[in-house]
Amino acid sequence: MKQDRLAALEALEAQVARDLAYLDYPARPWVPPRAHPDAPVYDVVIVGGGQAGLATAFGLLREKVDNILVVDRNPAGQEGPWTTFARMVTLRTPKHLTGPDLGIPSLTPRAWFEARFGEDAWMELGKWPKEVWQDYLIWYRRVLDIPVRNEWDLVEVLPEGPLLRLAIDTPAGPRTLMARKLVLATGIDGAGRWHIPDFIRGVVPESRYAHTSESIDFNRLRGKRIGVLGAGASAFDNAGTALEAGVASVDLCLRRADIPRVNPYRWMEFSGFLGHFAAMPDIDRWRFMKHILDMNQPPPQDTFHRCARHPNFAFHTACPWEWVRMEGDGIHVATPKGVMIFDFLVVGTGFLVEAAYRPEVAAFANVIATWEDKFTPPPGEASAVLARYPYLGDAFQFTERQAGTAPYLANIHNFTFGATLSMGLSGASISGMKYGVSRLVQGVVRDLWMADRQHFLDDLRCYDQPELVSTEWPASPPISSTPAMAAPLPASISSFSASTPMARARR
Ligand SMILES: Cc1cc2nc3c(=O)[nH]c(=O)nc-3n(C[C@H](O)[C@H](O)[C@H](O)COP(=O)(O)OP(=O)(O)OC[C@H]3O[C@@H](n4cnc5c(N)ncnc54)[C@H](O)[C@@H]3O)c2cc1C
Repeated sequence: MKQDRLAALEALEAQVARDLAYLDYPARPWVPPRAHPDAPVYDVVIVGGGQAGLATAFGLLREKVDNILVVDRNPAGQEGPWTTFARMVTLRTPKHLTGPDLGIPSLTPRAWFEARFGEDAWMELGKWPKEVWQDYLIWYRRVLDIPVRNEWDLVEVLPEGPLLRLAIDTPAGPRTLMARKLVLATGIDGAGRWHIPDFIRGVVPESRYAHTSESIDFNRLRGKRIGVLGAGASAFDNAGTALEAGVASVDLCLRRADIPRVNPYRWMEFSGFLGHFAAMPDIDRWRFMKHILDMNQPPPQDTFHRCARHPNFAFHTACPWEWVRMEGDGIHVATPKGVMIFDFLVVGTGFLVEAAYRPEVAAFANVIATWEDKFTPPPGEASAVLARYPYLGDAFQFTERQAGTAPYLANIHNFTFGATLSMGLSGASISGMKYGVSRLVQGVVRDLWMADRQHFLDDLRCYDQPELVSTEWPASPPISSTPAMAAPLPASISSFSASTPMARARR
């Protein structure tokens, strides 16, 4: 890296430290420690060291909840999709989105990008290359010194009185952690699993198909005929990667009569919706989110062009796959447009939300309330898919299917895409982080306070730190603690009418 960029990054890190020092109020760590004979007790364990988990950890540390730990099953630097299975060239979201910074300018993605590459590079930037976004998250984690254990895989959660027993697989063997609060920031599929339709699974040999979330050796597919099922951004990303790898052809098939063109996510990006979706009654939340999810997301224009520039690329609308079977070495796919023959299938059918699919909570998935348990949509507005979404509380916590059967659920916060119907966007999209993270953090901190309020009342009742230490008048008068004020500011700066950058920006 050039010397001036190194210097700029060092200056930025110094700015971050200064900003956090200026904002360090109230500074007192306050959560009373807990102990357990079997294992260390954390106030909060966050599962997932991606953008959502890291920002949540930072939010908690700012509230002086510092007995926390983030665990991630992936190796360091490979958290999330960005450098693992994401096959887009750039992020899909506009470059100026903020989120992980939690409102601190020196922590914003832009501040880091400008320090790393220069202000001109920012002006020239279209959208973030995905690897550079991962570099920003790696810097964010380091500069904030967030405690993360990589290659720690949470495999099971067991309630134990007011605590949660966490079974973790690590390279050094199984470990147990105890936690008062658990945040599941386990990714976009973190409330269910990636979905492979049954007419493919078990019919086509596993070596001949892959979901877009899986690792795919595209070099092995050179010269092959590829069938892609689905028209979301990931389906196009994989089609583009396959075409660039030299496959013979790509046929992308979608059920809809046309490719979605309008992106509801861009509509959502305003503070009213992002900040207050969760405040709405069930019927409104259902209607908004059903419409948004029914609209689906189009592939970004540049992603579509990435495929369309290849003559051996085709997409087929109103072309659902009716059945699939192996005939000889070919994969035969029946569609209303006839039978198509492929050598390999890329399945871009996204994920399903279903608690029972998650190993972490499978043991008690049957007591977790879903929308199906709490809400009956009006005739004509039903959705079997949405009905399986968890019915969350005001801070992303699971709720009980039947009151009193599983009080421990109030200590497990689902901060994944599964939260979307209850809470709007969470951390599982950059667009929703600004509001989702602060709502989650405030809820977790509230619950820790509420759980210990008697302790704090007792603590207050025996608080006896004198501030007035003497009622004697000292022999020599004390030095004033307020320095002599400088001469008054000139009118051009101090008067109400003085034009400031903000006033000029608003004009
Ligand atoms: C291909 C793709 C492209 C996307 N592009 C964009 C985009 O351009 N803009 C945008 O705003 N959003 C985008 N998203 C949506 C969203 O922003 C990302 O999914 C983002 O990664 C979500 O961040 P996260 O921290 O919630 O989850 P992740 O970044 O996925 O991190 C979750 C982490 O949890 C870990 N984990 C999961 N289960 C366990 C467990 N049991 N034990 C330990 N660790 C566990 C995983 O290893 C992973 O590292 C995209 C999503 C995908 C899949």
